Amino acid sequence: MKAVRFFGHKDVRVVDDMEIPKPSGEEVLLKIGGAGVCHSDLHIIDEGTVSGSVFTLGHENAGWIEEIGSDVKGYKKGDAVLVYGPWGCGHCKPCQQSKENYCDHQSEMAYGGGLGLNGGMAEYMLVPSSRLLVPIYDLDPVIAAPLTDAALTPYSAIKRSLDKLMADEYVVVIGVGGLGHVALQILREISGAEIIACDVTEDKLAFARELGASYTINSKDADAAEQIKKITGIKKAKVVLDFVGATSTIELGTKVVSLDGDLTIVGLGGGHYQYNMSGLPFGVSMTNPYWGSRVELMEVVGLARQKKIHIEIEKYKLDQANEVYDRLREGKIKGRAVLIP
Ligand code: NAD
Ligand code: ZN
Repeated sequence: MKAVRFFGHKDVRVVDDMEIPKPSGEEVLLKIGGAGVCHSDLHIIDEGTVSGSVFTLGHENAGWIEEIGSDVKGYKKGDAVLVYGPWGCGHCKPCQQSKENYCDHQSEMAYGGGLGLNGGMAEYMLVPSSRLLVPIYDLDPVIAAPLTDAALTPYSAIKRSLDKLMADEYVVVIGVGGLGHVALQILREISGAEIIACDVTEDKLAFARELGASYTINSKDADAAEQIKKITGIKKAKVVLDFVGATSTIELGTKVVSLDGDLTIVGLGGGHYQYNMSGLPFGVSMTNPYWGSRVELMEVVGLARQKKIHIEIEKYKLDQANEVYDRLREGKIKGRAVLIP
């Protein structure tokens, strides 16, 4: 079968000689409907955040069950499912609580398909356990694939600040890409806070306004923080969600977050922050959440099935993987690109 393989630094190739895996025991073989193209792949490809063996990329996957191992119950051929991305040990306390994104054993194993193990940018994908599947019922797997990360990650980040996102407060969203464009819709649906969105191009800012942002600011402007504070007034933003994570965006966050606010850095842009008591308002919680839980993924499916969130998708073939990664590097993808076998 065809697959998009990561061979090492900046070396991604589409191959056509992979064997279709055979599931046994707890394993499930999925016929892939779509695999989302996440900016985290670029951190792997360009910056080497995951090293070691050659593997198939794609950690945002959905499809139909093709074959189940002998120990799998509750699923049959043809069922449409998402693949929950962070594959924990399945036994520790966080895993028992469905929070495999915070598995105790994260540091000692490859941590998911497309992240060191074979992922879903292929015609078929082997999932180690049906525990890692979430049914999507009537949703189309091509459209649903990005729910597993582009929607789950902002959903989980927003939920942890929900008690601060009241209708008399402001929230700042930095980066209106794959994750950010879903974050805006989740905020619009589950919170009352007024949204200020930041990106670096006028198209992305216009897109943000379509998705529920009341105000948009170009964060390349030298006075971006002042522009935001003009909107919020003295109280500033109760929550800042940074989907870039560069030094400049973290710094912007520290300038516009309010006393007792949340500064949530989701982006893995390699930014640095040096704690400075007088540079950060008192009471601020700074956090770097990772992905979300299996149960939260079920809740995200609920939002999508009720049409409360919609992933904007650009569709491509597996053969176009390198072209798509270039477009993503250049910030040219609107919403999320999905590779379809
Ligand atoms: P993306 O490329 O689709 O979107 C990034 C957006 O940020 C683009 O719209 C781009 O124009 C904008 N941007 C770039 N520089 C900016 C700046 N200085 N100010 C404002 N906007 C700027 O990326 P994505 O797939 O949405 O991923 C976003 C980040 O989140 C990546 O670093 C990715 O690795 C990370 N990520 C983290 C987790 C997690 O669990 N923590 C999960 C998934 C992705
Ligand atoms: Zn675990």
